[in-house]
Amino acid sequence: MSDPRELYQQVILEHNKKPRNFGRLTPCTHRAHGLNPLCGDDIEVTLNIENGQIADIRFQGSGCAISKASSSLMTVNVKGRSVEEAETMAGQFREMIRGELDPSSAPNILGKLSLFKGVKDLPSRVKCAVLPWAALHSALKGVETTSTE
Ligand code: ZN
Repeated sequence: MSDPRELYQQVILEHNKKPRNFGRLTPCTHRAHGLNPLCGDDIEVTLNIENGQIADIRFQGSGCAISKASSSLMTVNVKGRSVEEAETMAGQFREMIRGELDPSSAPNILGKLSLFKGVKDLPSRVKCAVLPWAALHSALKGVETTSTE
């Protein structure tokens, strides 16, 4: 068994070095911009939704290691899912980061995303981790800009 904290560090580093689904979909059916002025993270999410499913998703922008790794992991985890599932996941991720949901005891669909649960103890990083999920939520709702402030 490896230390979850060590595993978390590894995943952050790995996704930073090789972000998955990086770029922009043109054309796209949904998009949103997420801003976290506190840290300077600026992320754009573009999606193609077909028949209620996320057929494709990309992200681009600039930000700290946590916002970038969180965006990369988000795209991997929501791609191919229904809009409904993606919204459930976004909600559970937010609750976990705020310390309201413990993924080891409460039922959830977070899977590998539960690696981020330690972020709840790092208040200055909470908004960085949640930013891509806030942008996804806005995109799905048809709102084009969202800010964590
Ligand atoms: Zn950040």
